[in-house]
Amino acid sequence: MLLLFDIQYSKVVLIYEKKWEGALKGQCSCGEVQFEMTEKPLFVHACHCTNCQRQSGSAHALNGMIEAKHINLLSGQPEGAEVATGSGQGQTIYRCPTCKIGLWSVYAAASDKFFFVRIGTLEDPGSYPPDINIFTKSKQPWVPLMPDIPATEGYYDAKELWSQEALARMKAAVS
Ligand SMILES: [Zn+2]
Ligand SMILES: [Zn+2]
Repeated sequence: MLLLFDIQYSKVVLIYEKKWEGALKGQCSCGEVQFEMTEKPLFVHACHCTNCQRQSGSAHALNGMIEAKHINLLSGQPEGAEVATGSGQGQTIYRCPTCKIGLWSVYAAASDKFFFVRIGTLEDPGSYPPDINIFTKSKQPWVPLMPDIPATEGYYDAKELWSQEALARMKAAVS
């Protein structure tokens, strides 16, 4: 069972690598807000903290961290709503003003140079499987973890897990 799941996961990654053509579109539920991501996310978090469970209404959030400059707003104007995070510093979720669907977040702890895009709002929501599962200490017991995707009970050190390319992009974005 696990092996089959692994094979399917590998396929997802291969399909994504073939399909990348320089931009990936996304939108809210009603379509008023449309955007495109012009670069791959730096890293994708499946966050199992209780805040993400409440804010997503699901078992975990799936957020792709990317430089703000790589998100082009094509239509609509998302509105920010501040909510709590485990760090205590809070985050602002940017939502469609009409259907109120959240499209990305800015975390106070991570600077406004980065957006955390909700992967499920992309036109191909299977494009970016998580690179890591975080805050698994509050993970729902019925959510399985893939053996080849790192998992951590809390947060983690990007220097240990990100590619050199992603680390260089992060450094360039904040300098
Ligand atoms: Zn909308
Ligand atoms: Zn979280």
